[in-house]
Amino acid sequence: MPEQNLKSVLESVYDGQSPTKADLEHLLAHNDRDSARQMVRLADKIRSRYVGDGIVLRGIVEFSNVCENTCAYCGLNRYNRNLPRYRMTREEILQSVNDIAEVGIKTVVLQSGEDICLNPFWLARVIEDIKDEFNMAVTLSVGERGTEEYRLWRQAGADRYLLKIETTNPALYGFLHPGMRLENRLRCLSDLKSLGFETGSGSIVGLKNQTCADLAKDMLFFKKEDFDMLAIGPFIPHPHTPLADEPQGDLGLTLRMLSMTRILTMDAHLPATKALGVAGSSDAVVLALAAGANVVMLNFTPPAYKKFYEIYPGRESSASSPDRTIRELENIANRLGRNVSYSRANSLKDRNNNVLRKQTLVKEN
Ligand code: SAM
Repeated sequence: MPEQNLKSVLESVYDGQSPTKADLEHLLAHNDRDSARQMVRLADKIRSRYVGDGIVLRGIVEFSNVCENTCAYCGLNRYNRNLPRYRMTREEILQSVNDIAEVGIKTVVLQSGEDICLNPFWLARVIEDIKDEFNMAVTLSVGERGTEEYRLWRQAGADRYLLKIETTNPALYGFLHPGMRLENRLRCLSDLKSLGFETGSGSIVGLKNQTCADLAKDMLFFKKEDFDMLAIGPFIPHPHTPLADEPQGDLGLTLRMLSMTRILTMDAHLPATKALGVAGSSDAVVLALAAGANVVMLNFTPPAYKKFYEIYPGRESSASSPDRTIRELENIANRLGRNVSYSRANSLKDRNNNVLRKQTLVKEN
């Protein structure tokens, strides 16, 4: 793409009024090096200015892999009979949270499959215990649930909730999630926001039948909904799913989508996702951090369970201990002129006055 055209498209995308689906699609589809470099440079500048230079650490505990759903891409789907299932006890979860607190991390993500036997009152009690003992930010990621359950967990002290939209294309959503409807996921996201959760969403890149137009629509959705957090990761095929023979999502496309999401949403927290690390090794994590990401999640699930949280293959072999990961991240941070941050990293959405500062960035770039 000629440099001037790219610049004007980036300017229109960056000017909150007028990103068009066609512009975004065009940017995603363009994979020449110069365009990608310009995009990354702008995303990195915006990241530095709006969320700072900290690489924020969060700890995740995958407390159950029991799942009722049949998502076509996910190894936890209930038809995967090869996977031993587990549920951690309250005491085990608190022990893992203690491990997180001991390294100085101030936010825990509690994630699980969608277990209809999950007792909402039990989870509320776990949240209360974490708040009482550790005073950490608590993020939940337990899927689609009813409004009253979300309310209960919010009242118990949960601060944040992650629920990726995965794709905004209703037909593709239906194909990938048998028995589920996009409207219900939208209802969940709307409930979560109304209840005052800091809310995260995101997409999988490279799903079967997904187009750049679909991804462009996803980004417009992110912008419109003004999410606090957004996770963009590549599809990784799992051998015991209907998508076993599909190719892995393209890393370049995933990174372009990440950069564009940073440019569009400016101050959302964006992780360098685990899926990027698995699909493209630790280099992909560095590339993601240089292309707009500012968060890394460290896994504190006990080793006895971690190997069974197999949403896609390769997670276990790519895993290193939290201490070692932190040391590696410190080296990466040094190389990038950044720092490893132990802050709670609350949402920045209500604090920034973006309008004035954004004017100059594209021109400087
Ligand atoms: N049940 C909760 C939910 O759906 O939000 C949390 C657990 S779910 C396993 C966490 C995330 O894993 C999903 O949002 C999805 O994007 C991701 N995931 C699952 N299978 C994947 C795959 N094969 N490739 C990439 N991401 C995958």
